[in-house]
Amino acid sequence: MLNKLKTVIAISALMISSAASADILLVPDAIFDGVSNKLITGKAVLVKDGKIARIADPSAFASSTAEVINLNGHTLMPGLIDLHSHVLLHPYDEVSWNDQVLKETYAERAIRASNHLKHSLHAGYTTLRDLGSEGAGYLDVGVRDTLNKGVIEGPRLLVAGKAIVATGSYGPKGFGEHVSVPLGAEEGDGNDLIRITRDQIGNGADFIKVYADYRWGPNGEAMPTFSIEEIKTIVETARSSGRYTVAHASTPEAMRRAILGGVETIEHGSQGTPEIFKLMKDNNVAWCSTLAAGEAISAYQGWKKGEMADPQRITDQKAAFKAALDAGVTMCAGSDVGVFDHGDNAWELELMVEYGMAPIDVLMSATSINAKLLHMESKIGAIKEGMLAEIIAVRGDPIKDISTLRSPSFVLQGSTMIKKP
Ligand SMILES: [Zn+2]
Repeated sequence: MLNKLKTVIAISALMISSAASADILLVPDAIFDGVSNKLITGKAVLVKDGKIARIADPSAFASSTAEVINLNGHTLMPGLIDLHSHVLLHPYDEVSWNDQVLKETYAERAIRASNHLKHSLHAGYTTLRDLGSEGAGYLDVGVRDTLNKGVIEGPRLLVAGKAIVATGSYGPKGFGEHVSVPLGAEEGDGNDLIRITRDQIGNGADFIKVYADYRWGPNGEAMPTFSIEEIKTIVETARSSGRYTVAHASTPEAMRRAILGGVETIEHGSQGTPEIFKLMKDNNVAWCSTLAAGEAISAYQGWKKGEMADPQRITDQKAAFKAALDAGVTMCAGSDVGVFDHGDNAWELELMVEYGMAPIDVLMSATSINAKLLHMESKIGAIKEGMLAEIIAVRGDPIKDISTLRSPSFVLQGSTMIKKP
């Protein structure tokens, strides 16, 4: 009986391994490996059991039984990573942020997220760091876990959960004091931030997001919220659990407090000054500039790019981007997608080039640099032997034309070919 059982187990294991992953041999014109500053030619990539098993001259695989994917005219590269997404939001010109938070059911938001994730993966994005559920509690945790069970199709998702805001600072706003409305994030202050951070961790947050400023100034302008001490409290509480903290901050003072408070990335930062970017550089804090969101919101407010002068927001973000480049700040690629259409994430990469960054550096930001900022550089973000096979191919040379990233013809997620040429 025992022997019979062992045989059955052995046979099923064999069936699983042969059914789950046939080897795949990718033969492109060129490879951007995520870390080298030029394309590599004359190499093929063998994928085995969802990992990159070998990179060698195509002739080395002459006797291989792998399925050959011919990628003539294509550049192979690591799957793209966006460090600032909101899969539970959709463009504000369709439905305002307030109405999404207040009127959409959790069911609608989750179903929309499922569609958004599919679009993102087909657009070549294999990892998203999601920066807050915006009023949907821990729905992002649930979506991530459902995704990990293989129920829906989408990129790897790392989530912030509710995110933390200072009492009184965040929206939706404009209701009578007798009316209570759900907020877009969780309020907290002082020592209670320890409990709130721990609670968010316990509910499944992969990292913590704090709003270091928000539009709560006397005239609705962005002003700092938390003190340095409060930010440190959050950062240290998160850190002792093995998690890092990121900060939303647009004003120089909030950026300064976030940097000195110990966050790892700053999101937006459109009013950042040369002094602030130097402080970021000195403290090894990276910047997710979310340029695409700035352009999208300006367009929703009536700006016609190319026909009209740049509004203040765009002038600011262009100046900040130049100052950050000059200071040598680590530039992450984070778009704030959700403010604009999911699947259009590569718009951010086009704007990074347009605002003055070398295309090769933008490619590295969207792959190996973002992977490092996720503390996942040993698994993703590069085409190297032993790494996970999260690989895309784009037509032509993305260094010469960054817009090729908008429409990859091939997307591989482990052993699953999501898109074939
Ligand atoms: Zn955001």
